Amino acid sequence: MTSDISSRAHNGHAVHQRPAISFEFFPPKTEEMERNLWDTITRLAPLAPNFVSVTYGAGGSTRERTHTTITRILGETDLTPAAHLTCVDAPKADVDDVVARYHEVGVRHIVALRGDPTGGIGDTYAPHPQGYTSSVDLVAAIKRRHPDIEVTVSAYPERHPESTGFDADIDMLKAKVDAGATRAITQFFFDNDLYLRYLDRVRARGIAIPIVPGILPVQNFKQASNFAKRAGASMPDWLAEKFEGLDDDPETRKLVAATVAAGQVQKLAKRGIDTFHFYTMNRADLVFAISHLLGIRPGSARKAA
Ligand code: FAD
Repeated sequence: MTSDISSRAHNGHAVHQRPAISFEFFPPKTEEMERNLWDTITRLAPLAPNFVSVTYGAGGSTRERTHTTITRILGETDLTPAAHLTCVDAPKADVDDVVARYHEVGVRHIVALRGDPTGGIGDTYAPHPQGYTSSVDLVAAIKRRHPDIEVTVSAYPERHPESTGFDADIDMLKAKVDAGATRAITQFFFDNDLYLRYLDRVRARGIAIPIVPGILPVQNFKQASNFAKRAGASMPDWLAEKFEGLDDDPETRKLVAATVAAGQVQKLAKRGIDTFHFYTMNRADLVFAISHLLGIRPGSARKAA
């Protein structure tokens, strides 16, 4: 199926025939995980994503591993990397140093986040005494020091777990845009209406940047439910029902997962959404299949603006 996106672009991007995609990876911990990540990158690279991003472990715990992965992507592939960065638990000088090192090796895209509270979600966030106080503060600092770095931020269609309401959340997004962010990627969601309603709220507030839907192909239902609980994302009953009885049947689970995620992106594409960010969990197969169903083929490269 080729997506029907020629007439509208609901999420703020220019209209294109082929949807634009980006992929998110996490930095590997072991040699085996590293081999797996590189197999994944090798398989997905011919799909010509706009960029690939690499996460930053809670509290900066993967600082060096994120840097190594990003540097290797820059050195060994034609892909454009985006480095995630948080400001939790770090003095400004350390954060500035991380950004400067990225800039020096040629990174020009940062996904800037505040990060979870030190004690985990549910705890009260306290900035480091010499640190950036918020994601807004971090975005502004990156843009001040390196105006040529593109900054992407987060967005929460179901509200952030700490949020006092949609208005507070959207005020925060507006402040991040005013500080220099030019794209937002959403927390994952499974009910498209939640995203589309959020998009309407964001546009009503005068925010015009692309709000790229973050898509999580559910490879493991229990694991995804745990992520969702922590992220404040809802798991619809219909989704649980689709995976019922498949705990010991990974092959069928994979087919169901591909069908569910492909259905989600195809329905969004029909509503004019032309850009997708995939949480790959460092696995290629589902994301490759879903991209294929969106009409994306190896070699059908198109760089979006
Ligand atoms: P912000 O956008 O700054 O805030 C989110 C919401 O929290 C606000 O809208 C507001 O409602 C509320 N809030 C924040 N501060 C306050 C305050 N002072 N008072 C009242 N309310 C407040 N985490 C990582 O550790 N590493 C990663 O690589 C990473 N990548 C991510 C990528 C994406 C696309 C997304 C969506 C999230 C990612 N996260 C990552 C998770 C993120 O760090 C957490 O959700 C964190 O709790 C919030 O950071 P933020 O920048 O999204 O928050």
